[in-house]
Amino acid sequence: MARAVIVGAGIGGLSAAAALARAGLDVTVLEAHVSPGGCAATYFHQGYRFDAGATLAAGFYPGGPMEQAAQAAGVARWPVRPAEQAMQVHLPDGAKVVRRSDASRWEALRDAFGAPGIEFFRWQERTADALWDLALRRPPWPLQSLADVQESAAALLPWASGRLRQGLSPWLALDAFLPVAAHLRNAPERLRLFVDGQLLIAAQAESARANALYGAAALDLPRRGVVHVAGGMGAIAETLAEALRRSGGRILYRQEVTRIRRSGGRPVAVETKRGDSFPADLVLANLTPWNAAALLKDDLPPALKNLPLHPQDGWGAFALYAGVDGAAIPQETALHHQVLLRRPLGEGSSVFVSISPAWDGSRAPAGQRALTISTHTKPAAWYELYESDRSAYEARQEEYVQKLLAAAEVALPGLRDAVRLILPGTPLTFERFTRRAGGWVGGFPQTNLRRSFGARLAENLWLVGDSIFPGQSTAAVALGGLRVAETVLRRMGTRLLERPARESLAGDKP
Ligand SMILES: Cc1cc2nc3c(=O)[nH]c(=O)nc-3n(C[C@H](O)[C@H](O)[C@H](O)COP(=O)(O)OP(=O)(O)OC[C@H]3O[C@@H](n4cnc5c(N)ncnc54)[C@H](O)[C@@H]3O)c2cc1C
Repeated sequence: MARAVIVGAGIGGLSAAAALARAGLDVTVLEAHVSPGGCAATYFHQGYRFDAGATLAAGFYPGGPMEQAAQAAGVARWPVRPAEQAMQVHLPDGAKVVRRSDASRWEALRDAFGAPGIEFFRWQERTADALWDLALRRPPWPLQSLADVQESAAALLPWASGRLRQGLSPWLALDAFLPVAAHLRNAPERLRLFVDGQLLIAAQAESARANALYGAAALDLPRRGVVHVAGGMGAIAETLAEALRRSGGRILYRQEVTRIRRSGGRPVAVETKRGDSFPADLVLANLTPWNAAALLKDDLPPALKNLPLHPQDGWGAFALYAGVDGAAIPQETALHHQVLLRRPLGEGSSVFVSISPAWDGSRAPAGQRALTISTHTKPAAWYELYESDRSAYEARQEEYVQKLLAAAEVALPGLRDAVRLILPGTPLTFERFTRRAGGWVGGFPQTNLRRSFGARLAENLWLVGDSIFPGQSTAAVALGGLRVAETVLRRMGTRLLERPARESLAGDKP
């Protein structure tokens, strides 16, 4: 039986691992931390269970990425409940826009942005429907070999003929080369700001730079339904880890990988800090390209040679974990809020606030709630200050705590007085707990369709996670992990993954 070693128990690594184990491979996952999930983990502190990074769970609809992951991994049911409102977006002029998945979303968009909003989101939904239909067929991307071209063509042809029957516009192809902003040319600033804020969290780039096809698909996740995860986001990883074990795979914690050894161009073993060595015929690195390169040392495959220092336009995160009196949270409020204060976005001017559900008693002591409040930040400044002036680093941390609390109060007035516990996390904290080099999170900003890293690094050596297409989010990395698992199985000529029947959205129109 082929021995597969997966380095890292993020959602990308675990979905690939659980799928490969279910397909009959001998799978071992090595995780440096004490629990799974990486950027989508939930950690326990003084009675609270805080989501460390990701808080908004999407892609659980029929035929969607998480249903595909469940089917391939053998997960009978995810521990989730549908959210009534996907999120509330707060604009600088005090307006609130509720993002929902049902037809009432059009009313909200019309009220907030009038005809230009309807026009933009009509384009967005039409494009997203076509794109998701393709993405859920999991074609290899970017193309790295002749086999990829053949497999892509096999997915593309039935997609294109189906879509042509439904009146697919040939103009769609143009969007492969345009930014989202091409569809906002005459839009008012409020609408642009709204779209930029949403794109920043979904594509890591604003409309002037985010690719139009990618952006349209990424903006669609709230429409496709948001769920709340019982026990916090970490329960997604726990559920995948459980499925992996049921299929005979194993996951070992506190096993930091220090070396991937190759011989004759193929991986042969994975070594850990504890001095253990795990023989491997196949290695999947659930890592950034920089972390993967560090483990291969001087035996770098061409794709990992001459990497730039890090993606210059990439992001880190500053997060605030707050334990709060439940009385401060209005009963009817959405559990996710995006607060947009001013341009430029990020660095405390755009803030995402997520609240643990009142029904989930596991997340906080009785009568309290666990909040994760975060903003995009450039990691370099944090590292420089940490190295050069520790007290300036601490002062900046305190400044960001105050900025984020002030922004969160826009969504939850009176929040500050209800806070019982505050824990800040800078990009250095993210690097410490997820080991992502330079505190860089969220994958490559999706500025063009070939921006993500190719998954195949070398013979039997693959990358999974948010550095490969389709990039960041728990749903996207699950889909990417399945795509890699399936390609690996196809090349081995073995049993392929089970897939659910695909179901298109009705796509109700305004
Ligand atoms: C602040 C923030 C907010 C976000 N919000 C959302 C959101 O609301 N919704 C959403 O869907 N997504 C969100 N995301 C994005 C999402 O969390 C990530 O895209 C996704 O979880 C990344 O998964 P991954 O598979 O790339 O692995 P990672 O999460 O990067 O996990 C990699 C794992 O590998 C382990 N590891 C690393 N090096 C080693 C080693 N040498 N040996 C052993 N183990 C190792 C790490 O400990 C980690 O567990 C957010 C991210 C951040 C940072």
